Amino acid sequence: MAGPMRFDTHEIFNQSPPYVDVDLLASDLPLQEAVRANGGGDEMAALGAFGRRWGSAEMAAAARLANDNEPELKTHDARGFRLDVVEFHPAYHGFMAASIEAGLHAMTWKGDGSRAEAPSEVARAARYYMVAQIENGHMCPITMTRASVGALVMQPALLRQLMPKIASRRYDPSFRPWRDKAGMTVGMGMTEKQGGTDVRANTTRAEPAGEGYRVTGHKWFMSAPMSDLFLVLAQAPGGLTCFAMPRFAPDGNVNGLRLQRLKDKLGNRSNASCEVEFVDAFAWRVGDEGRGVRTIIEMVQLTRLDCAIASAGLMRMALAQAVHHTRHRSVFQKRLADQPMMRAVTADMALEVEGALALVMRLCRAFDHAAQDGEEAARARLLTPAVKYWVCKNAPGLVYEAMECLGGNGYVEEGVVARLYREAPVNAIWEGSGNVMCLDVLRALAREAEAARAVLETLQRDCAGLPGTAEAVSFIAASLSAPDAEGHARAAVEQLALLAAAAALAASGAPGVAEIFARARLAARRGATFGTAALDPEAATHLLARALPA
Ligand SMILES: Cc1cc2nc3c(=O)[nH]c(=O)nc-3n(C[C@H](O)[C@H](O)[C@H](O)COP(=O)(O)OP(=O)(O)OC[C@H]3O[C@@H](n4cnc5c(N)ncnc54)[C@H](O)[C@@H]3O)c2cc1C
Repeated sequence: MAGPMRFDTHEIFNQSPPYVDVDLLASDLPLQEAVRANGGGDEMAALGAFGRRWGSAEMAAAARLANDNEPELKTHDARGFRLDVVEFHPAYHGFMAASIEAGLHAMTWKGDGSRAEAPSEVARAARYYMVAQIENGHMCPITMTRASVGALVMQPALLRQLMPKIASRRYDPSFRPWRDKAGMTVGMGMTEKQGGTDVRANTTRAEPAGEGYRVTGHKWFMSAPMSDLFLVLAQAPGGLTCFAMPRFAPDGNVNGLRLQRLKDKLGNRSNASCEVEFVDAFAWRVGDEGRGVRTIIEMVQLTRLDCAIASAGLMRMALAQAVHHTRHRSVFQKRLADQPMMRAVTADMALEVEGALALVMRLCRAFDHAAQDGEEAARARLLTPAVKYWVCKNAPGLVYEAMECLGGNGYVEEGVVARLYREAPVNAIWEGSGNVMCLDVLRALAREAEAARAVLETLQRDCAGLPGTAEAVSFIAASLSAPDAEGHARAAVEQLALLAAAAALAASGAPGVAEIFARARLAARRGATFGTAALDPEAATHLLARALPA
């Protein structure tokens, strides 16, 4: 940066330079290690180019524009005809084009909708983690599009038609039938006014009609309403069923989706989330009637995985901003980065991000191998809700602490951290809120007890020699099998995620980090805030050096 600038009244100094034009891969040693440890070593060159592009000042500026200029709903035209379209800032379209060009919406699928080979999940997650550090709103339709294939496989003939458009690397925002477009995106409508968790309470109705169904009812949250197709749940004659509802009916007319209004959201502002009514809207059935929840399960697992990856990315950017700032800001003639208490805070945060990243990347490896390896499938089943729970719940607290590291600048919208802070809570709420994730862990244990026990044993073996392991394992086993397990589930699921994080760190080859993590998170009690963990100064120095190159 240029030297101190002169104003008429004063010179500006002791402000940290903007954290932009960053190589998001080269500056992130834990990410490099996690990618290699989980089979993505061959991706390094491509990830490097990706990280330089997404870390550029240009991308940072576009992210601000996409969020400052929120999408607008146009329900009618000047003559009173219904439009039901949402207009986005060009910066939002730029992000959609960039993520789709990179394949984030489809690279884990082959052209026929079957799973791509390993390490496609790991390779995608590394990119997704970097994108999450820059712009989050557009990631919602990217996530939903990629996950939708997990449900659409239940209707092979329909998937065969859709897949060439879904897999296309061309973003086509035009408002036309998907068959006429260069590429398409897919959204989801599950949540109704009376219930989001309890989708079985859905009141939207579907009646068989011709080659599909006619759907009437509403959704209380439906994000990315300019998607070309929506997976929705509705009550068919045979019970709750999944449907694929296109924006244009097969006859070429605009389908009966009436966008009521856009949500005025805390964060996630570049993305539109709408309330919608379905007026005799055409839809194809996906899966059997009455099997709606079963049909969407694989899709839901994938969206939960993305929530965790994105939250880890948010945490990474908040940490990087904090470490960067403290290295450039002096208070009482001493750099903040050299003040022991600030080092304790930022090192504790760095440890949390190490754990979150190792955890999500190891989970992605499980998804990569689940189809061929029963143990990995069981790991993915048991740990996805636990990882979503722990990572997404921790993100807001960590981002808040990063904000405080930046002092008043952190609270101001021109900086990035304020936006990260507003963004952070949504991943915990969406696609299964905290309690629901813990209930899902209990469900996995109840239904697949043998497999779950084997996962726990593997984690214990992976953590061999790490402090606190045995105690954590017995606590998890005792709590989750207790007659009143629901009441203890949060504590047990948190321990499960911590154990899995320690195991992932041990496998990632990060020198000494698994030991530090286990000592601070498994073996010792920690206070409610960052900076209270049992970290000695050498451990703090090690973590901070790894967090960001000097
Ligand atoms: C920005 C944003 C975008 C969204 N986009 C979409 C979208 O595109 N499509 C879509 O379908 N939905 C979307 N949603 C909705 C979201 O998925 C739901 O809000 C979420 O699933 C929770 O449902 P709910 O709001 O009805 O809360 P509820 O289901 O009423 O849950 C309220 C609370 O109760 C807890 N809880 C529920 N059951 C239990 C239990 N048995 N024991 C203990 N606690 C329990 C939950 O954990 C939660 O904390 C979006 C939400 C947001 C905020």
